[in-house]
Formats: sequence, C-alpha cells, structure tokens
Amino acid sequence: MAERSQKVLELLRLPENSHCADCGHPDPVWASCNVGVFVCLVCSGVHRISSIGRVKSTQLDYLEHDLIEFMRSHGNRRAKDEYEACVPPFYYQPTEQDCMVLKEQWIRAKYERKEFTGGKECVYSVDYKEGFLWKKGRDNGQFQKRIFVYSEKEGVLKYYIGDKRSGPRGKLDIQTLNATFQGEKIDHHHGLEITCVQGERTRSIYVYHDDGKEIVDWYNVLRYGRYRYLKKNFPDTPEALLIPKITRNYTKSGYMEKTGPTLKEAFRKRWFTLDSEERKLLYYRRPLDPYEQGRVFIGSTKCGYQVAEGFPRGIKGNKWDAGITITTPDREFVFTCENTKEQKEWMEALRSVMSRPDQ
Ligand code: ZN
Repeated sequence: MAERSQKVLELLRLPENSHCADCGHPDPVWASCNVGVFVCLVCSGVHRISSIGRVKSTQLDYLEHDLIEFMRSHGNRRAKDEYEACVPPFYYQPTEQDCMVLKEQWIRAKYERKEFTGGKECVYSVDYKEGFLWKKGRDNGQFQKRIFVYSEKEGVLKYYIGDKRSGPRGKLDIQTLNATFQGEKIDHHHGLEITCVQGERTRSIYVYHDDGKEIVDWYNVLRYGRYRYLKKNFPDTPEALLIPKITRNYTKSGYMEKTGPTLKEAFRKRWFTLDSEERKLLYYRRPLDPYEQGRVFIGSTKCGYQVAEGFPRGIKGNKWDAGITITTPDREFVFTCENTKEQKEWMEALRSVMSRPDQ
C-alpha cells in the first residue's frame, strides 16, 4: 500500500500534473480514470455526472496497479495535446474562479463532445444565431421568453417580443458588447449579463437558458462575433492583446453607500460594478437595472487618481463606516462599505486599475 501511494505521489508531483487539467486549480487530487487526467474536486464532480466516466480520489480510494500505469501513460499534458488540440482562440477557457456552467461545458466540450480534437467544424464560428432566451423585463422583475438573433452582417445582437415581423425591441451593438456570467446577481446559475454602451450610458440585459450548453453556446458565439470585430478593426494588434478584449468579467461588484458631489448629501446604498478594462466604476439603484445611475472614471495614479481608506475631514458615513475616498483631478468621491473586508477588497480592486497606465 505504501509503495502504491508513493507511485501516485510521484505522478502528482510531476509539473504537468501539478494543476487541474480542466480549470488550473493547484491541487488536483482526483483521477479521471477513463481520460487519464488529474483534476480538482469541483471538476471531478463534472466528470462524475457526465459520460466521461469514473473518478477516484488519490487520497481516499484504492488505485489499482493498472490504473496507476494508465495515469502514468496519459496524464494532463498528453490529454491537453489531444483534447485541446484545436481550441478556437475566442473560446472562453474557464479558470478556477469561473462559474460552474462554464467549467461544466468546457469539460463536456473537451471529453464528451470532443469538439477540439480536430477535423470538426467549430460550432461557435457562426455569423448568425437565433434562439430563445429568458430575459428580464426592462422595468419589471419578470423573466420572459424572447427570441434573440445575433447577426454578424448587421453587427448586432437583437431581441424580439413575440413575432419577429413587428421588429426588434432592442439591439446591442457588437462594437461595445460585453457578456459576463452573473449567476448570483441574476439568481440563476446560468445567468448571463450582456451590456453595450449607448451614448454615455451602459445598457444591461439579463438572460438565461435552462440548458447549460445553450447559454454557453450563445456566450461563445458572441465572443466569436467580438473576436471577428476586433480582428477586422484592429488588424495590427497582436492576438494576445485582442483576446482579453473579447469579453471581460467585472473585477468586483457589490453594495456600497455613496454621497453626492458636495459630500453633504445623505449616503445611499447603491450596487457597484468595477469594469477594469473600461476603467469605469458604475453604480445602480438596483443590481438588475437596465442602465447605471452614474459612473466614475478611474484614471491612473500618474494622472492624479488616488484611493484612500477613510473619510475626508468632517464627513461621516450613514449606516456603514468603512470609508473609501477616491480622489480624481476634478473632485472627491466618498463611499462606505459594510465591513473592513469589503473595504479592503474595493481598495485593492481600485488600486489595481489606477496602477495601470492610461492608454
Ligand atoms: Zn478543476
């Protein structure tokens, strides 16, 4: 038994097996027996519920000699070479921080549907997609079935209420479109937030589909559209710089309280979203509002932007007292967080944006 454990440990110590084959988590202690990869607990759950096959714990289960030899002759590097041979550059490969639906569909796409082993047409490289999604009504909290159409020719994602003949109810331009999974906020584990800039403001729509594959397909089709748009309009920009601009996740979201421009107004609770890529701190009356109430541009430290803990002299918060003061060349913004943990996280997130030079 001791010798066998030693053999498993040797395999786990190999650099190629040091991270989960599917999400990169640094502690892959599960063996997926049919594909021969080491994965983390979360990803092992997907392997188990799919048709990929058995998983065994390298810590708790007995690993037979044959299985150990199989794992030795396969392993994470070989599996990557085989199952990730042709991942399209725009396809979103989840990390350990990402939501479950992205991880699940990535794992199923790799091993179950074998989408990336080559010789197959890419299902996401389409210039037109039509289907229904559940969309939150603009002014009420109800989700309703709407027909969505993505058209590369028109450069838009549009949606219809009822019959398509009556024309689209809304359009989101691919030029500024972003899509990010926001399961907790939308209160559905397949919840996707799609935004685009309309004038000064950002329009947000909130959608989901009960089928995980369908919502992740939509996400990757929109990513393909964004990728094509970026390639066409920024032909000289290296691919590595374009990829992060396809879509982006928020660096941080959550409630803070804010006061107004004179800093004497009452503090009010608002939902905040930090979009680092766009250098915008957006705030909303309610998390699922169609438009933000306001926004703060977060420039670089070099250009005079700073964030500090606490309040300017003479200012006091309302219910919350973990204060943050953002100083911009024009004015000060004062926010309060529910606790010091939130305060610290917001300060770190804001500092990371400020430390990046303006383009
Ligand atoms: Zn994992």
